[in-house]
Formats: sequence, structure tokens, C-alpha cells
Amino acid sequence: MNRDFKAERERLVKRLIEEGFLRDKKVIEAMRKVPREEFVPENLRNSAYTDTPLPIGYGQTISAPHMVAMMCEYLELKVGDKVLEVGAGSGYHAAVIKEIVAPENAENPGHVYTIEIVKELAEFARKNLEKTSYSKHVTVFCGDGTLGLPEYAPYDKILLTAAAPKIPPPLIEQLNPGGVLVAPVGEPHFYQTLKKLRKHFDGKTEVFEVCGVAFVPLRGKYGWKI
Ligand code: SAH
Repeated sequence: MNRDFKAERERLVKRLIEEGFLRDKKVIEAMRKVPREEFVPENLRNSAYTDTPLPIGYGQTISAPHMVAMMCEYLELKVGDKVLEVGAGSGYHAAVIKEIVAPENAENPGHVYTIEIVKELAEFARKNLEKTSYSKHVTVFCGDGTLGLPEYAPYDKILLTAAAPKIPPPLIEQLNPGGVLVAPVGEPHFYQTLKKLRKHFDGKTEVFEVCGVAFVPLRGKYGWKI
């Protein structure tokens, strides 16, 4: 029997609202739209709407929906934002962000730049975003995201979807004054702290600790050497 993914998605969103993970209307609408089943490996489609991370190969995972929702809320995303994501993985989180910063018919659509260090996953994300028609406002790059993407900087919002030893300095540099960066920071294969950094208009930064999280380790120049 064919599963009704749309109904499963609605149920998940409703649960995330009840559990307090989803509050912002824009994020709720975005989570309602993006078909997570199109961003997981074929054999895991039936698990697309369980609220857990799922393996996407190469030792990596697509984040749990509640984590995607929370990070989107902490980023204070709005229409027109230029966003940099470090860790494209499946492309799902980038698609959710696209729905918020570049919704259909926006006069001033934003853009999502997402960078992935594993070549095969960059390709996986690209394919998933193409088949779901997100490619116009989401661009996937393959490389070390700890160096940022200076060609398109500065960014209004930056997120890391892998745990860093500390927030990579190039990313703070590439953040617009007034911008927000959200990143898990802490030891690999253990719990980390989700941090939210705000860059003020005078260039000064302020960091808040949000909650405990568990992410795959960040690699690259400012990542873990494992
Ligand atoms: N946002 C993803 C979650 C991916 S998990 C999604 O929605 O599916 C984190 C990803 O970060 C992994 O794919 C991993 O390969 C990638 N990664 C780790 N270190 C990186 C780095 N330095 N630059 C870019 N990507 C990195």
C-alpha cells in the first residue's frame, strides 16, 4: 500500500508544535511543505517522518526534524536572507530554509548556499534538491565549509550541522553585522552545546548557549582531526 506521506508530515508537524519545538509560523509552514521522504535513501522512505536522525551513508545522518525546526527558529530566518549552511548532507535542511527565505512569489527572495565536504553527499544533496525543484534558490558546493564561502559573503545567517571544536573564525568574519550563526560546539561522539552567536552592528559578537545536542563531528581545517 502506498503511504500517505503528506498526512504523516502533517502529524509530525502537529507533534512538534505540541512538544514546543515549533513556534514560528514561517518555520511551521516550511516544515509542512518539504517532503523529507525525498531526502532520505530509498530504503528509509517509510521512516521519513519518525523524529530521529537517519543514516545517509558515509557515516553521516540527516538531522532529526525537531533539530531542523529548532535551528531554523534560533536563526531568526526571514524572507530575503542570504544563508550559508556548513554540512549539506541530504539537502533537507537547506530546502526547509529555502521555503522561509525564498518563498514562492517573494519579491526579494533570499538564497541558501550549502557546502558539503563529502563529494558523494554533495552530489546526493544536489540531486535531491533538483528533483524537488529547490535548486533555483539553493546552491550546493563541495569543499571545506569551515573556511566558509568567501565568494558570496557576507551572509545574514550561518548554520553548522556538524559539531565543531569551536566556531570557525572565517565563519564569524563572513557573517553580516546584525547576523546570527548557530552551531553545535563540543567533543565528537558525545553531547555538545548548541551555540547561538549574534554579530552586532558594531562588529562585536555575543554567544548564547541554547541546549544540549548530538551531532556528527565537523571535519576540515577548523574541525576535528579524526
Ligand atoms: N544538514 C544536513 C545534515 C548533514 S550531517 C541534512 O539536512 O541532511 C552533517 C554533514 O556535515 C555531513 O554530511 C558531513 O559530511 C558534513 N561535514 C562535516 N564537516 C564538514 C566541513 N568541514 N565542510 C562541509 N561539510 C562538512
